[in-house]
Amino acid sequence: MSKTHVLLFPIPMQGPVNCTLKLAELLCLNGLTVTVLNTEHIHRNLLRHTNVLTRFSRYDNFRFETISDGLPDDHPRSTERFVEVFEGMKNVTEPVFKEMMVSGCFSKISKCPVTVVIPDGSYSFALDVADEVGVPVVYFETVSPCALWTYLCLPKLIEAGEVPFSGNDLDVPVKSVPGTEHFLRRRDLPGFYRCDNLTNHIMQTIMNEATHVPRAHGVIINTFEVLDESILVHLRKVCPNIYCIGPLHTLFKSCMAIEPKPVTQMHKSNGSNSLWEENRSCLSWLDTKPAKSVIYVSIGSLAIMTVDQFFEIWHGLVNSGKPFLIVKRPGSVIGDYDDNQVPKVLVDATKERGFIAKWVPQEEVLAHSSIGGFLTHSGWNSTMESIVEGVPMICWPLYVDQQVNSRFVSEVWKIGIDMKDTSDRVIIEKAINDITNVRRNEFIKSANTLAESAAQSVTKDGSSFKDLNRLIKDLNSVS
Ligand code: UDP
Repeated sequence: MSKTHVLLFPIPMQGPVNCTLKLAELLCLNGLTVTVLNTEHIHRNLLRHTNVLTRFSRYDNFRFETISDGLPDDHPRSTERFVEVFEGMKNVTEPVFKEMMVSGCFSKISKCPVTVVIPDGSYSFALDVADEVGVPVVYFETVSPCALWTYLCLPKLIEAGEVPFSGNDLDVPVKSVPGTEHFLRRRDLPGFYRCDNLTNHIMQTIMNEATHVPRAHGVIINTFEVLDESILVHLRKVCPNIYCIGPLHTLFKSCMAIEPKPVTQMHKSNGSNSLWEENRSCLSWLDTKPAKSVIYVSIGSLAIMTVDQFFEIWHGLVNSGKPFLIVKRPGSVIGDYDDNQVPKVLVDATKERGFIAKWVPQEEVLAHSSIGGFLTHSGWNSTMESIVEGVPMICWPLYVDQQVNSRFVSEVWKIGIDMKDTSDRVIIEKAINDITNVRRNEFIKSANTLAESAAQSVTKDGSSFKDLNRLIKDLNSVS
């Protein structure tokens, strides 16, 4: 077993857990000893809805460990109550993590000491603990580089009086995020910068992130060079050692094809890491639809909307005349509604050309030939998955990094429309008509070019493939 023992520690959310498991598998395949530390709640859901245990049982150099998130089992951990998750992490997870590291408990289980910690970028405490026990940290940033850059610029934004700001005058240009001066407005900054003061938990977390991330040995990001070169050039001035190993989900497949490992026979794909049960029948429904005709709608694993907003989106889809697939995750529509409140026009159109599912295998959906557009909340994983498949986007960002991502989609990469801060049925219908008809050629051209670059980046000569090898070499050399 390798003496390089990497401890991966994601935040308890679908996107970061998904990416972390993909990274874990890549590191296992390259012979490193890997432990993934998930909260007990996340681990339970993974066991319930995926085959991760079977998948990872193929690696004798891999282990799952769990840690408490400080909340009772029956706590909903819903978006509305996410602040309690943060508090639980602060009060319970942080001290327990410290105790685990200091007592060397991971070495007892894996028979070799942890030599590198790879925590989520928002876990500042992990760097302090790792420093204390003398182990290097490489942060894993699961947000986009453009969002990370707005986090690292937060002290500068505050000093310049640009943050915080109230909900008014959202079109004021932002000057303190180098490289974005000509297109970034207040409304494009992370959602939590729209606040009255800096003392709330999330702003403190970002402030800590801005001071801690540059101190780490390196930073791993789920992107590829060509996509984010304009921002990476600035990020590298603050964090010189960045590993761009995205798109992670295609890098895995490519690595298996380039350098088949002994496990390949039984293990062709890195499988699902979904925390909800996937409705796979939507794929056969998609098979019945014409090429590039369906609008796929999802707001990811955490975002929520009001019933009114949901109905506006639904009306917009129906009025566009296009077939549509909507993910309506349990709990994602606040307060929900009775079936008899749904207007007849929506019910009829959905029967005729719609499909509503609670959760779908999104990577496969986006790769399906019938998908013509993605109405998305602009989470970073969803954005990358759409870029890989060359699917134009209609962005309806809600919080965290989503506002920045959607601005880059429309202004930098020019692969979609940013509907930011509106969810009106007329605007949605027009946006659908634009991406599927009026401006279709323009969007498809840029989306295809980016998709080709994404595919190139994970080939043997590609930047992400090379960065993964550099990461593995560095993890071995610091161990
Ligand atoms: N996802 C999925 N099925 C769904 C909706 C989303 O598998 O029905 C996955 C999607 O592929 C992505 C993740 O959930 O990998 C969502 O991550 P993202 O960063 O886009 O948004 P977040 O959930 O963190 O807001």
